[in-house]
Amino acid sequence: RRNIAVMTSGGDAPGMNANVRAIVRTAIFKGCRAFGIYEGYSGLVKGGPEYIREMNWHTVRDWLAEGGTNIGTARCMEFKEKWGRLRACKNMIDAGIDALIVCGGDGSLTGADRFRGEWPELISELLHKQEITQDQYDRYKHLNICGTVGSIDNDMATTDATIGAYSSLARICEAVDYINATANSHQRAFVVEVMGRHCGWLALMAGIATAADWIFIPEKPSSRSEWSSHMCEIVAKHRARGKRTTIVIVAEGAIDASLNPITPDDVKDVLVDKLGLDTRVTTLGHVQRGGPAVAYDRELATLQGVAAVEAILDGTPETPSPMIAIAENKIVRRPLMEAVKLTKSVAQAIADKDFAKAISLRDTEFTE
Ligand code: ADP
Repeated sequence: RRNIAVMTSGGDAPGMNANVRAIVRTAIFKGCRAFGIYEGYSGLVKGGPEYIREMNWHTVRDWLAEGGTNIGTARCMEFKEKWGRLRACKNMIDAGIDALIVCGGDGSLTGADRFRGEWPELISELLHKQEITQDQYDRYKHLNICGTVGSIDNDMATTDATIGAYSSLARICEAVDYINATANSHQRAFVVEVMGRHCGWLALMAGIATAADWIFIPEKPSSRSEWSSHMCEIVAKHRARGKRTTIVIVAEGAIDASLNPITPDDVKDVLVDKLGLDTRVTTLGHVQRGGPAVAYDRELATLQGVAAVEAILDGTPETPSPMIAIAENKIVRRPLMEAVKLTKSVAQAIADKDFAKAISLRDTEFTE
């Protein structure tokens, strides 16, 4: 009988609640106790009944569709320090928890794996300082962890989709549809900035799904003279064919060939100066994270929640920490640290302007 805790960490994403619900209910169904850690790693470092609460079947009722995360999330500097992780270790033992499932992005999952790697050292230190008893030491010697990926950016390597990305995409598409209606009335151009951090997935998919005229993504930088003349050529061609609207989508991480950010205002200036278009900028902002989870995210988060508890129950001290992924429509386990390492290598390759490497890393066939 395991005592399994679940936490959401990093940026919130629709579907995190569905993931927590599935984890809590699967844990209970399998005869375990379930706990929610509130406010991410910050709650783990603070500890106590305010932050570490036992969850029952009813606690998570109606969480399936709800956006955001009801158990809270936070960024926590203390957990990056050894003393913070030592407090977290003590708080988990005090609460009787022996397994942890973290739903978050690559930063959160890095933290989780680090915590597990360090666990033997942390728990020995607590025993040495007599903060825990020998019995507690024997009972909690091993920590099992498992990661599920919650992120609207869809930026984690080795998984086809992250929990939240399709909800965010749906929200962006709805917003662009609204914008299209007003753009059409006034024959205006709109430059729409979307989220995604260093990943262009949201902008690319939104561009396809809304028939945008042009998109900017971090993965495909070009010099200002190149993009401005090419974009204007395309937009002018569309207008000449009778299109009354112009939509340009800019990923928040978009960069030019010198790695300087491309801002929506840069794009607007070009559309005004070169084409004389009546142009407005819309930054969608946090609307993209809100609202209910779309059906796909509810389903993904639920299946992955079940898989996460199963992975915890199968875990041994020897097996590396798993991350629950989806690959070719199948829910699979991946070694968590390899997925995180690959994700960081892709980001590094983009920062180094080595796009061929970034693309080949993203296409890495994962071998067990
Ligand atoms: P995301 O999970 O969305 O990538 P962050 O990178 O902000 O978000 O990470 C969320 C939290 O995870 C951090 O505030 C910190 O508490 C923890 N974390 C991230 N990286 C590490 C690390 N290397 N060691 C320990 N904790 C970490």
